[in-house]
Amino acid sequence: MKKEIQTIPFMDIKKQYLQIKPDVERAMQRVFDRSQFILGEEGRNFEQQFASYVGMSYGVGVNSGTDALHLALHTIGVGAGDEVITVANTAIPTVSAIVAAGATPVFVDIEEETMLMDVKKIENVITPQTKAIIPVHLYGNVVAMDDLVSLTRSIIAKIAKKNKIFIIEDCAQAHGAALYGKKAGSFGDISCFSFYPTKNLGAYGDAGLILVQEREIYDHLLLLRQYGEEKRYYTVMNGFNSRLDELQAAVLLAKFPYLDQWNKRRQAIAKHYLDEIKNVQVRLPMFKDSVASVFHLFVVRVKDREHFREHLASKGVSTAVHYPLPLHLQKAYFSLGYKKGDLPITERVMEEVVSIPIFPELSDDDVAYIIDVVNAYKG
Ligand SMILES: *Cc1c(COP(=O)(O)O)cnc(C)c1O
Repeated sequence: MKKEIQTIPFMDIKKQYLQIKPDVERAMQRVFDRSQFILGEEGRNFEQQFASYVGMSYGVGVNSGTDALHLALHTIGVGAGDEVITVANTAIPTVSAIVAAGATPVFVDIEEETMLMDVKKIENVITPQTKAIIPVHLYGNVVAMDDLVSLTRSIIAKIAKKNKIFIIEDCAQAHGAALYGKKAGSFGDISCFSFYPTKNLGAYGDAGLILVQEREIYDHLLLLRQYGEEKRYYTVMNGFNSRLDELQAAVLLAKFPYLDQWNKRRQAIAKHYLDEIKNVQVRLPMFKDSVASVFHLFVVRVKDREHFREHLASKGVSTAVHYPLPLHLQKAYFSLGYKKGDLPITERVMEEVVSIPIFPELSDDDVAYIIDVVNAYKG
């Protein structure tokens, strides 16, 4: 263990910016020179490039990841009286989007090992009102989408449901992640991405994207994001204002060519953590062989989380908690009627999770130092 204490932040967006400054400036200058700031070439290029990267037919740029989920639900007709199944171990916006669409969130517990949606438990919560399922590829890991898709089909057949149950993937933390070599976001009917600045691919402001396979849904989303306008100043349905602006699209186009190499660096850091963190107090995350996580976060489990965080902080290593309180126990969602004990695995896991720094710009020395500090934790 090195003697001097280092200071390692949880994230360092500026360090990344300084590495790609010329790319970003060129891209932004292009937009200023053209001076079209809403719905133009940059947005269209990014939509196409990202859709083909993931393996979907169409992309619709929107204002944020939350809007992507909200508009996706809206476009398939989810509204009052409908139920949408998701997990309580996710970022708040997964659920606020369901509520914004007028529907009721229904929570299913997670798997202990992966900390992701337990697709086997979906059967217990599905009802005739279920209109959609939102699996969340949390931390960069991928939900068992193959099982989810086949399970949903067989459940629909069994309960003789007339209507389709849509699968909407929340890919806000999983840009480039894959299951059996197929990208997260290409399994369901619709997939939603966020480019919030700290995501694996981040804009310099808010940005989101919806990917779809069907032309009809795509056309509908194009209307929905711009006041329902079929042509300028003629609206055919009530819509929203939710567009990926040209400056953010240009930033994303400038950063996109680096995404795979950044993800590889995250994976290399994760490999060091998985191989070299050896501390009985610290439970490492587990991954199925079929999954290539992109390690948006590296989340370990420790019984006395606060003590562990204090230890790391005393050595200059910043940590975070994703997330401290499951959504079914949040004040905003009391009215859904859940109580402590309803999702035992989610609740147990979320009392213990701690995220340690994992971002591409960490140096090998930083990584070695973090490993030493974690291994020195006494419990
Ligand atoms: C970031 C995030 C979102 C929302 O994205 P915004 O762009 O901040 O609206 C949704 N779901 C998950 C899992 C996220 O991490």
